[in-house]
Amino acid sequence: MSSTDFSSQNGAGGPPYANGPFQNPVVLQPPGPDYMAHQTPYNPMQAKGPLPPGPGLYNSGPYQPIPPVSSNQALPSQPMLKRPPMGPQHSMTPPQSASPNPGFRIPPAHATPPPASANNYQHAPAWQYGGTPPMGAPPSMGAPPPMAMPPLRPVGNHMTSSPSLATPQASSAEYRATPPVFHNAMQPLGPPTSLQGYTQQGHMPTPGNGAQVPNSFDHLEMGPKMAGPLPPQQPGPPTRHMGLSYPSLPPGYTNTSAPPTAATMQHPVQPSTQPYSHPQPYQQPSAGPAQLSPSLSGLSLQSQTPEALRVVNLLQERNLLPLGPVTPPTPCLPQDLQKINCHPEVFRSTLTSIPQTQSLLNKAKLPLGLLLHPFKDLSQLPVVTSSTIVRCRSCRTYINPFVTFLDQRRWKCNLCYRVNDVPEEFMYNPVSRSYGEPHKRPEVQNATLEFIAPSEYMLRPPQPAVYLIVLDVSHNAVETGYLDVVCQSLLENINALPGDSRTKIGFITFDSTIHFYNLQEGLSQPQMLIVSDIEDIFLPTPDSLLVNLNECKELVQDLLRSLPQMFGKTMETQCALGPALQAAFKLLSATGGRVSVFQTQLPSLGVGALKSREDPNQRASAKDIQHLSPATDFYKKLALDCSGQQVAVDLFLLSSQYCDLASLGCISRYSAGSVYYYPSYHQQHNPAGVECFQKDLKRYLTRKIGFEAVMRIRCSKGLSIHTFHGNFFVRSTDLLSLPNVNPDAGFAVQMSIEENLVDMQSVSFQAALLYTSSKGERRIRVHTMCLPVVNSLSDIFAGADVQAITCLLASMAVDRSVTASLSDARDAMTNASIDSLTSFRTSVLTIQQPGLLAPACLRLFPLYILALLKQKAFRTGTSTRLDDRVFAMCQLKYQPLAYVMLMIHPALYRVDDLTDEGALNVSERTIPQPRVQQLSVEKLSRDGAFLMDAGSVIYVWIGRNCNPNFLTQVLGLPNYAAVPLNMNMLPELDTAESQRTRAFIGWLREQRPFFPILHVIRDESPLKASFLQNMIEDRTESALSYYEFLLHIQQQVSK
Ligand SMILES: [Zn+2]
Repeated sequence: MSSTDFSSQNGAGGPPYANGPFQNPVVLQPPGPDYMAHQTPYNPMQAKGPLPPGPGLYNSGPYQPIPPVSSNQALPSQPMLKRPPMGPQHSMTPPQSASPNPGFRIPPAHATPPPASANNYQHAPAWQYGGTPPMGAPPSMGAPPPMAMPPLRPVGNHMTSSPSLATPQASSAEYRATPPVFHNAMQPLGPPTSLQGYTQQGHMPTPGNGAQVPNSFDHLEMGPKMAGPLPPQQPGPPTRHMGLSYPSLPPGYTNTSAPPTAATMQHPVQPSTQPYSHPQPYQQPSAGPAQLSPSLSGLSLQSQTPEALRVVNLLQERNLLPLGPVTPPTPCLPQDLQKINCHPEVFRSTLTSIPQTQSLLNKAKLPLGLLLHPFKDLSQLPVVTSSTIVRCRSCRTYINPFVTFLDQRRWKCNLCYRVNDVPEEFMYNPVSRSYGEPHKRPEVQNATLEFIAPSEYMLRPPQPAVYLIVLDVSHNAVETGYLDVVCQSLLENINALPGDSRTKIGFITFDSTIHFYNLQEGLSQPQMLIVSDIEDIFLPTPDSLLVNLNECKELVQDLLRSLPQMFGKTMETQCALGPALQAAFKLLSATGGRVSVFQTQLPSLGVGALKSREDPNQRASAKDIQHLSPATDFYKKLALDCSGQQVAVDLFLLSSQYCDLASLGCISRYSAGSVYYYPSYHQQHNPAGVECFQKDLKRYLTRKIGFEAVMRIRCSKGLSIHTFHGNFFVRSTDLLSLPNVNPDAGFAVQMSIEENLVDMQSVSFQAALLYTSSKGERRIRVHTMCLPVVNSLSDIFAGADVQAITCLLASMAVDRSVTASLSDARDAMTNASIDSLTSFRTSVLTIQQPGLLAPACLRLFPLYILALLKQKAFRTGTSTRLDDRVFAMCQLKYQPLAYVMLMIHPALYRVDDLTDEGALNVSERTIPQPRVQQLSVEKLSRDGAFLMDAGSVIYVWIGRNCNPNFLTQVLGLPNYAAVPLNMNMLPELDTAESQRTRAFIGWLREQRPFFPILHVIRDESPLKASFLQNMIEDRTESALSYYEFLLHIQQQVSK
């Protein structure tokens, strides 16, 4: 496979951005006196007098074309950043090394690209949203390198070509290659399964009631391997009996006809699922286009959503933040449909009203896409065990709340509109325990639910949980002290690793050689096997390196206890990461599983060796950022090999030096792994970093995991999905291959409108995630979302979800930074806000008013865009380490929306005066809810203390004249001078103030799956600069203030 094959993976190489590089340097009017009035003396980076011209980025005077600046132009010298040596350089050259290290150069005068010429000041659209997707060349790179596998088959619409049942032909290798065939087995074969139940995740089944226990799968593992795809579902009466009862009724299914004994259940994510009570049995509550008309008729979106379209003059209204969290808009659907719709934390769209046509979407200049958090931890999840999973015969959509029942025996698919038969089993309603109420089945009552796939869906026994730990044990690694933490954490959590009696575990360590560990039962102690030929990696004893965790637990524990000392005195500085990964792949390729790699430096030996590409002198001054793309395709190719064998690689990078995350990260990105990054990790010097690593490891080791997963996103006919964001491999046009899936992974897709949706009242989207649980169950989690179709621009604007739009744009901008340039991506983001506000002004507003006008629902859009421009991933003019930047880009691409938003726009609270007023009550704890403040030093006051929640970091800034009560009662310190420069935890004091503050911070930390470091800082703290960099409304040396940015946008919008 040539390296060019890889370029279109994840859509990054596709042509989503049709308009090419955009040149639109900004020119500003000087801000008015109002702006200056709120300057405060707290920000050393702020101008004290009238706005000086920035260092070249923006011309604050009247418009004047700026000639290009030669990079050789003499400049005041910039201070060189001191950092540790980059480690030994080796003669080994990466296979496709990027440009050579440029060496030292005089930094160019401008931190951002200088304007080219006057005629470049014309505004042009930056992004063409949607458009015709590159269907001929989908953003996938085709099948991964064949690992003795047959060609992949697409999953949908090929039922007729499925091999007959009579010809079992599946090997386990084929199974891996064709997980989609699970979807095809509609008509169960073999003996009727007696397990038909309905249970609820997280609730103990009633003892003694076998029907409640989810399918045990023992019989699946013992049973013969099933044939390949099964023939299409045949209408007509089933040959099996109706199955057993659905014992415990989930609340929420308490239909009017349900027996009074029915328990009640909350919808997993919706606050409540009200029962439908319809007099006529087959009139499912207004699901599907045909039945939407009565509900929607007479509805005026304008009158329904006056607030969303309220015109806001951004130049006048200073404080636009809501008091609390920003809430997503509610789709304008009939109430009964909306109540049952998928929760926005799991599935949301950038536009909650879908335009009828692509041209209408183009006019709105807003991106159309979906954001998903498909495997999110849910406190309650309906789980269905059924021998028949009902799906559309044509497009394979799972039956869902938004289909239409034409009569008792037929349902109409809400994605392709095919009329399907209702299988006989589905006629039985487990909720009311009565016959003839298919529309009351749980599948039709829940937008999010999980199926336990019947045995007939299996081609091989579901894989066991397999964990392989790969540890860097070079001198550098040992010196950081991380090995102690990893081994200790594994020892503490060894019984909490998700899995069952089949769980396997193995270990590899590496420096200049690769070390394996024989842990076979019966050995008195672990046996270390060293392979020094890293050019041709082989497994010394293939059968004893991955062992059953239960059977060999003592040996595993022995190893974990001795590992940290084994390399304590090593002088080996070399690091052969590439060969170690090859060994890991070989070890896991037979089963699939998870590789956890701990790496502390730039790989220096063997395949995949890298050289430093970062020039610290150019961090702040580079005109554009180089080396955002990988230096070699080794890691990507290996990741695709891993993906083909259901192996995912998670990377933990602990380093104080440049490690080329842009190259290393590919191993996780394409194998659906995760990347963790701990810059400046050191056991002694960075205790906060150690705590963060420990907490993250605990979550990582114990969180839910799904193996050998695939995810497909379907949407109603007329819509098409064309670009994916996240960590995965695109197997076919819309099938994501996820060797592992974890509950903290987010995904995004872009969409376009292929056919006019003129006759549609609504459209639907369905994400189906098929995976093997750590207990060896094959499960399918299905999320379905329904959204209205609208035909006016004002309705589109009224439904705009500014957070989803921002997150999607951030992902698109990461791709653009890599495929084009950082400055191009920055321009595109700026123009996204200009274009949409221009469209609003010219096409929606009927009365023109002065000012910068935005609909209320998009009032935060320019602020978020400015925040993105100042975010670590995209900022310029500020010293940003390349790995830090690349890691921020990774996070923007694969974190769920809630965490991405905190990275982009941190939340600032005043915390020295917390009260219980309006507090939340969470499991008998009182959590204060201070209001969110604007991110400006103007909001800080010297007599207070402020908490900034930036996602992975929480700062508590202490004012110089801070309320003494806070200092003594919360910090336990006598005065301001006693505040240490580096303080990472609050003492547990027995005061009301301390309890409130710790409760609030604890609650913030609970909201996310990673552990944010706490930094208590004061004016003299070295971290103050990082804190102030998040004050995105303020001007910095190299970037505009919010007000200046608004003026720039206004100037462009008014053109
Ligand atoms: Zn269909």
